[in-house]
Amino acid sequence: MSRVVLATRNAHKVGELRAVLAPLLPDVEVLTVDAFEHVPEVAETEVTFAGNALLKARAVAAATGVPAIADDSGISVDVLGGAPGIFSARWSGRHGDDVANLELLLAQIADVPARHRGGAFVCAAALALPDGSAAVRLGELRGTITPTTAGGGGFGYDPIFVPEGAQRTLAEHTAAEKNVVSHRGAAFRALAPLVVDVLAGRPIRPEHGSEGQ
Ligand code: IMP
Repeated sequence: MSRVVLATRNAHKVGELRAVLAPLLPDVEVLTVDAFEHVPEVAETEVTFAGNALLKARAVAAATGVPAIADDSGISVDVLGGAPGIFSARWSGRHGDDVANLELLLAQIADVPARHRGGAFVCAAALALPDGSAAVRLGELRGTITPTTAGGGGFGYDPIFVPEGAQRTLAEHTAAEKNVVSHRGAAFRALAPLVVDVLAGRPIRPEHGSEGQ
C-alpha cells in the first residue's frame, strides 16, 4: 500500500484530514509523524499560509523519506485587516491556547456591529516529496464572527464562526457537516488528485497556487 505522512501533531486536524482524505485516497495509508522517530518540530517562519504549509511538508518529507502532506490555517477577520491570519494559533501570545486566543479576538471586535464582522477561515494544503518538489492548494470558508460562543464541537475559533448561509456556528456542526464546507476540506479535496499522481509515479504538478503563494 502507498503511504503518505501528515505533518501535524494536532489531533483535531489529524481527525479532519483523515476523514476528508480517506474516501479520496482509499488505497493510501495515511500516517502521522508519530509513526516516525526523530521528526523535528518545524518553526513556522514564513509569512503566508502557503509558505508555512510548504515548509512543514518539505521538512517532514525529508525527515521521513515519505511523501508528506501539511496544512497551515487560520482565521482572517476583515475589520482587523486579515488578522489573526498566520498568527491564529498564538494570537494571545500562548501557542495553542484556543480559549485565550478566541477571547482576545472577541474582545478586540466587541464594539464592531454585526454587518462588519465578516471574515474567513483559510487553509493552505501542501504536498512535498523527499526530493523537495512540492505543490500547494488553498481553501477558504467565508462567514461572520459572532459576539459570543456557541457549541461544543470542533476546535479553535469554531464556537464564534457562522459560515455564510448557515445559522449555527461551526462548533454546532457535526464533524461531517464541517468537512463538507470547511476551508480544510476544500484545500485537501483540491490537493488529493496531486497525491494520487505522485503515488502513481507521476511528477508533481505545481500549477495553480504553487510556490510563492
Ligand atoms: P496551525 O496549526 O498553525 O495551522 O494553526 C491553526 C490555528 O488556526 C488553530 O490553532 C486555530 O486557532 C485556527 N484554526 C484553523 N483551522 C480552524 C478550524 O477549522 N476551526 C477553528 N479554528 C481553526
